[in-house]
Amino acid sequence: MGLYEGIKNIAKAVQQTENVDLYKQLIELSAQALDMENELTHLRSENEKLIKEKENCIERHDELYITLKGDADKTLYCSHCWDHEHHLVQVKCYDSGSFKCAHCANNGVYDYAKWNS
Ligand SMILES: [Zn+2]
Repeated sequence: MGLYEGIKNIAKAVQQTENVDLYKQLIELSAQALDMENELTHLRSENEKLIKEKENCIERHDELYITLKGDADKTLYCSHCWDHEHHLVQVKCYDSGSFKCAHCANNGVYDYAKWNS
């Protein structure tokens, strides 16, 4: 049941009680709920826009890690966590040339020269 439909159903029930104060409260709460729904729609749209902007800052690689464009340190982040949650989670890089995400355990090789030696 959607918000509008729910409010309409409750309004019908409240009208039958002929309780004016209760009806006024329902109208006030309905207005607040609709404002919140509009704000939620706005925030979702803004969040989607921010994610797309951030996606443009990401460099993808053959292995399942990502780096940020312009990052001189070339910090490695988990591509799985980014793709599923849009969180930048730094991966642990090992001297062996492998990496592992502490959050989701995604792992792989970031440096094949080290990996093969
Ligand atoms: Zn991860």
